Amino acid sequence: MVTVNGLVIRERTAKENDKYLTILTDTLGLIEVSAKGVKKANSKNASVAQMFCYAKYCLSEGKSGYILNCAEPIRIFYQIRLDITAFALASYFCELLLYVCAKEQPNKEALRLILNTLHFLSDGKRDMKMLKAIFELRLMSEIGLVPNLIGCCKCYKYTDHQMQFDLGEGRIYCEDCCGSKDLRNCEVVDGALLHSLRFIALSDMSKIFNFTLNNDHLIQLSNITERYVEIQLDKHFKTLDFYKSLI
Ligand SMILES: [Zn+2]
Repeated sequence: MVTVNGLVIRERTAKENDKYLTILTDTLGLIEVSAKGVKKANSKNASVAQMFCYAKYCLSEGKSGYILNCAEPIRIFYQIRLDITAFALASYFCELLLYVCAKEQPNKEALRLILNTLHFLSDGKRDMKMLKAIFELRLMSEIGLVPNLIGCCKCYKYTDHQMQFDLGEGRIYCEDCCGSKDLRNCEVVDGALLHSLRFIALSDMSKIFNFTLNNDHLIQLSNITERYVEIQLDKHFKTLDFYKSLI
């Protein structure tokens, strides 16, 4: 028997009343859990066997993986299910986690990041573009793909009127050092954008949701972090297309 705190980031139907859950846990990383009978109306585990449920799960280890015994809900993030755009964005976050988190290798900061992001998505007090940008860039940082944003990678200049952020190289160039550089994978960042990127990538997790940017900058920021994820992972996410079809 093993007890973990975890968030359901994927659910799939198994036999008639059963589900397979993928849970991002605090101590075991990503795990697959067989949840029997949870689709029955009277199942005691129905509410904890669904997407975005964060709970303390009591599992037993069967021959072919973990089996759900019982669970105590901690946060169900019910509000996210009531808003199709929030649901789509949260589904994209989960698809990203599924892609980058390793099975049975704990990443407590990734779990903390998704829980904090879902909290703000749920209460509706942060712009979704901002939450998307924070989640994308910080997740990359937490899995070891943090860009070098300290200064120009050639001359170490800290700020400039504009700088080029090379999303493939994960580093920045000042105007003087761009020269004849190929700019296809680059995005122009001004002072405010660079400050926000640094803040998200490098601040303590408890602070990263506390900054403000105007709407035009938020659109640019969200575009930059999205491209950074796609280029760094060389992967396109279908759930992202769905989210973007709604906004
Ligand atoms: Zn430079």
